[in-house]
Amino acid sequence: MKTASYAAQSATSPMAPHTIERRELRPDDVGIEILYCGVCHSDLHMARNDWGRAMYPVVPGHEIVGRVTAIGPDVKKFKLGDHVAVGCFVDSCQHCDQCHHGNEHMCREILTETYNGRDRVTGETTYGGYAKHIVVKDDFVLRMPDGLDLARAAPLLCAGITTYSPLRTWNVGPGSRVGVVGLGGLGHMAVKLAVGMGAHVTVLSRSKAKEADALALGADRLLDTSDAKALKAAANGFDVIIDTVPVKHDINPYIPLLDIDATLVLVGQLGNMDELFTVPAIMGRRRIAGSMIGGIPETQEMLDFCARRNILPDCEMIRMDQINEAFERMERSDVRYRFVIDMASL
Ligand SMILES: [Zn+2]
Ligand SMILES: [Zn+2]
Repeated sequence: MKTASYAAQSATSPMAPHTIERRELRPDDVGIEILYCGVCHSDLHMARNDWGRAMYPVVPGHEIVGRVTAIGPDVKKFKLGDHVAVGCFVDSCQHCDQCHHGNEHMCREILTETYNGRDRVTGETTYGGYAKHIVVKDDFVLRMPDGLDLARAAPLLCAGITTYSPLRTWNVGPGSRVGVVGLGGLGHMAVKLAVGMGAHVTVLSRSKAKEADALALGADRLLDTSDAKALKAAANGFDVIIDTVPVKHDINPYIPLLDIDATLVLVGQLGNMDELFTVPAIMGRRRIAGSMIGGIPETQEMLDFCARRNILPDCEMIRMDQINEAFERMERSDVRYRFVIDMASL
């Protein structure tokens, strides 16, 4: 089936209309009309080949919300008209230990990315959610719970699960002391989700400039990390710190803020970091960890949790033809806090 999309044809060409072919439904496939798609930093990085592995044309988009328009004969979990979602991956080996534990995102045989991946049957390049339709194997389709605002929910599929998973992994609950570094697409979700879990949430920032924003999102306070006195007073004060900053930076100021055995989780920067002074980590058995999205069961759990608690990203809705401007604004952090494309505009 031919479907309209927006694609980058090279690292230097802007996003522009492009027609792609979606595969014929296999017996366990779900055909989805895409209603909304969130705009993630990864979309921009892949379109511009910042990671050196782009396969053009690149059709980005892995925060997908839509409606079921077709199902294969073996599909039992979904019916026509259901509201569904698709996140960062659309297949995995489904037989390794990680897949068996619902950790498909850490599949030993590597997950199949929603875009710029290789279909496990045909080897064809996968195309993402900047399109009218997508076809996805049923086990990798999520159910949108009733009551979740479809127009705002799309960013939960990447930004939401990326921050929900470490909060759950490190057992955040009522009374947990959680710090969040970086207040962008990921950081603002980390604040909302941790608040929803009952934690005491502090935004860690290099100035007081974002204090009003932090409090508006539900955080209890903002800690100015340029204030040496405040930093000293906050020592040993956190059970978990989620660091969402997507560029090389200095994590040294955060380690002494962790309590004994507490953990700093990196979810933003893929690549090098500033040099680490190890003493605070060694002295307090403090940990530095990483985390990436989440598996299918945990992603469904996150959607259900957000529906129950009415937790939604703060979004700015755009038309498909505004995507190039949105990329530029995203680079300047000029968005609160996530762009979502209304696919009716394509
Ligand atoms: Zn993403
Ligand atoms: Zn696997």
